[in-house]
Amino acid sequence: MVTSPFPGIPARRWLEVADAALRRFGPAAITETLDRARFAELEQTLGTTEGFVLCPLCGDWLQDAGLIGHQRSSALPLPGRAPRRGSRDSG
Ligand SMILES: [Zn+2]
Repeated sequence: MVTSPFPGIPARRWLEVADAALRRFGPAAITETLDRARFAELEQTLGTTEGFVLCPLCGDWLQDAGLIGHQRSSALPLPGRAPRRGSRDSG
């Protein structure tokens, strides 16, 4: 399980930015994603990873096709809502 280094940033979102930064800028960029301010800059620069969309409810990144189902299943924006059932992780 991956944990985001920043409170308020879902792990998957951090991971996608870190991964995009790695591919675009090389290993040195990983260190920068551990800095909150640089992470925000990188996220702005790189944007949402292709094929992913930003969920406006919880701030997580989801695969484009899964957004509607995700929002239906989490209609109530409860902060700190932890998924109990095993989530499919293709990482
Ligand atoms: Zn969401």
